[in-house]
Amino acid sequence: MSDLDALSAAYQNLKSRNQNIDMTRGKPAAAQLDLAAAMFELVGNDDCKGADGTDYRNYGILAGIPEARALFAELMETTPDLVIAGGNGSLQMMYDVLQGAVVFGVPGGDGPWRDAKFLCPVPGYDRHFAICERLGIGMIPVEMNDDGPDMDAVEALVAEDASIKGIWCVPKYSNPTGAVYSDAVVDRLAAMTCAAPDFRIMWDNAYVVHHLTGEIAAVKNIQKAAEAVGNPDRILTFVSTSKISLAGAGVAAMAASKVNVEDALERMFYSSIGPDKINQLRHVRFFKNKAGIEAHMLKHAAIIGPKFAAVEKAMSKAFDGTGLATWTKPAGGYFVSVDLMDGCAAETVKLCADAGVKLTASGACFPYGNDPRDRNIRLAPTMPTVDELERAMEVFCTTAKMVCLRKAAG
Ligand code: PLP
Repeated sequence: MSDLDALSAAYQNLKSRNQNIDMTRGKPAAAQLDLAAAMFELVGNDDCKGADGTDYRNYGILAGIPEARALFAELMETTPDLVIAGGNGSLQMMYDVLQGAVVFGVPGGDGPWRDAKFLCPVPGYDRHFAICERLGIGMIPVEMNDDGPDMDAVEALVAEDASIKGIWCVPKYSNPTGAVYSDAVVDRLAAMTCAAPDFRIMWDNAYVVHHLTGEIAAVKNIQKAAEAVGNPDRILTFVSTSKISLAGAGVAAMAASKVNVEDALERMFYSSIGPDKINQLRHVRFFKNKAGIEAHMLKHAAIIGPKFAAVEKAMSKAFDGTGLATWTKPAGGYFVSVDLMDGCAAETVKLCADAGVKLTASGACFPYGNDPRDRNIRLAPTMPTVDELERAMEVFCTTAKMVCLRKAAG
């Protein structure tokens, strides 16, 4: 029997097992959410006042409670006055910033963004691209390297085209490749000459403390780097506790220059009287400080580290030395990015779904869902159990290999 025949037989056998495993999104597993269980007990009706006596049950405090701003300031390496602690999602804050830019413009610009474009390092985060698509912001893909975006391409593009208003960046354990931005990339982003005076870097530090191993990455503070070269308003930094505490009930924060914080608060005034301060207080009491967050993240790593190890083990067993696939070995974050032979991703995702393993749609990590080489697949190992994951990886590896060999056979 040829390798291809053997794989086809194995695939049919796996398909007949009628499995139903969902690896579409990077959701925390229930065991991770359980780590925050004590949080529910930390704020009671008779115990929800701020240090200055403010009753957090009531309206107000648009920028978030001072205790939460202080906690995020420590995490984001800035000062509390430059932090807005918001609702439960950083994505909403990012959407609001860009919608505000399209409707009203941003400080340093000359009014609402018209025919704006964004640079999108690829593969990247599908929801970033969805925001641009929704708001009519054009997207220009740039190559993502191991140390951040291809800066030669980025610098050339932003220098000559004033309609390029920004770039998406996930600086640490990037979604989906796990790349960590180098100091050189951070410095170049902070200092590059932009034709657009109101250029913005959407610095989505979603995985700032999401280490998987003992190998803890540090990324240079881009806000300080930008201030040092006279571009303080270029950077908007976002984090959230979605994958630290509860994905459905975390707290998000934005940090930026004074000008940008004031601009954001001015816009927010019209859409909110204040965030969920009780949840913010719950988070402050639970974590206390950055050290508390870091200690908590070690518990997450203990749960999801073995899942990433299972993915790595299955991938290397199936693909080492074959030349059919390359994949990332992230030290943090939520994903493994796989590149198969060109033209094999969509078919692999489809056949995996037929065999009961749902993966992120092929092309999702590219603007407009278009992976020009049809080769990239994002694996999201956190949600299934290790046992489910091993079974899912058996399906994935068998299917991907079969599709590649079929393609190679023409
Ligand atoms: N940013 C990145 C890079 C992500 O991967 C995710 C979730 O997968 C988010 C933001 C969503 O964050 P939030 O839950 O704070 O909206």
